[in-house]
Amino acid sequence: MDLAVESLRAARTRSDLHLAPGERYLAGGTWWFSEPQPGVTGLVDLTTLGWEPAERAGDGLRIAATCTVEQLGAHAPDPAWTAWPLVGACVDALLMSFKVQAQATVGGNVALGLPAGAMTSLLAALDAVAVVWTPDGGERREAVADLVVGPGVTTLAPGEVLRAFDVPAHALRSRAAVRQISLTAVGRSASLVVARQDADGTVTLTVTAATPHPVQHRFAAMPTSVQVDGVLTGLEWYDDLHGAPDWRRAVTTLLAHEVLAELAA
Ligand SMILES: Cc1cc2nc3c(=O)[nH]c(=O)nc-3n(C[C@H](O)[C@H](O)[C@H](O)COP(=O)(O)OP(=O)(O)OC[C@H]3O[C@@H](n4cnc5c(N)ncnc54)[C@H](O)[C@@H]3O)c2cc1C
Repeated sequence: MDLAVESLRAARTRSDLHLAPGERYLAGGTWWFSEPQPGVTGLVDLTTLGWEPAERAGDGLRIAATCTVEQLGAHAPDPAWTAWPLVGACVDALLMSFKVQAQATVGGNVALGLPAGAMTSLLAALDAVAVVWTPDGGERREAVADLVVGPGVTTLAPGEVLRAFDVPAHALRSRAAVRQISLTAVGRSASLVVARQDADGTVTLTVTAATPHPVQHRFAAMPTSVQVDGVLTGLEWYDDLHGAPDWRRAVTTLLAHEVLAELAA
């Protein structure tokens, strides 16, 4: 895809992140170079900042925004992280060739805010918190489940940069189950449902892809079928060529019961 880009700056330090008019942040570039980008005249490369892709942070994990999908999938987990199979499931849920997986970053996936953004699904399900660098030199933190607010819409303000995602130990050490479905054999995710049970018994149900933004419900203990149907009733269901709303509601309800049954077994 040809872009009308006149400049490409490699960011080395935080001060390089101030955007000039027409400039945007570049990570893996898999979206930037996949469709026309009117009005974009310059790109600022984040991958040259040299951030460690994934590193231990206390008992938890810090994933750099520039960590590629491939690097995350290849990361060696702590043996205590029983929820780690979610990572492979969400990496596989992305409709990408191995070449795209090697370039696409976790931060780029979240920043795009697509309902089928499986890195958003993963991080929301694991209660990850986004570390956001603000243009004034400060930092703010926001749950990934709240940062994506609609198709292609996030709470990121102009000039804000996703620095990292902090995944807490309690979620990494939880028991988890995941189901994903697409309308066609190699289509984008139409629904991706994760259930997690933490050591204190709390159950977290996270629905993505089927809804315009991540939806999360917490239960003090394993919910009944009636409770599950209750929280799913009334949700707004996403509508695009990858699935009609009534079909997404039906399959998500089925998948939600399946993941909870798996945890309860
Ligand atoms: C064949 C193919 C299949 C795809 N399948 C899927 C799919 O199934 N689901 C899906 O969600 N997407 C899909 N995509 C879209 C896209 O490639 C991915 O979402 C990818 O993860 C984007 O990451 P990137 O690093 O390439 O982002 P880039 O293309 O570099 O950037 C994407 C956007 O994110 C912003 N951005 C990137 N990093 C940051 C940061 N750290 N802070 C602030 N803003 C940032 C950029 O400014 C830009 O607006 C697909 C793309 C291709 C080409």
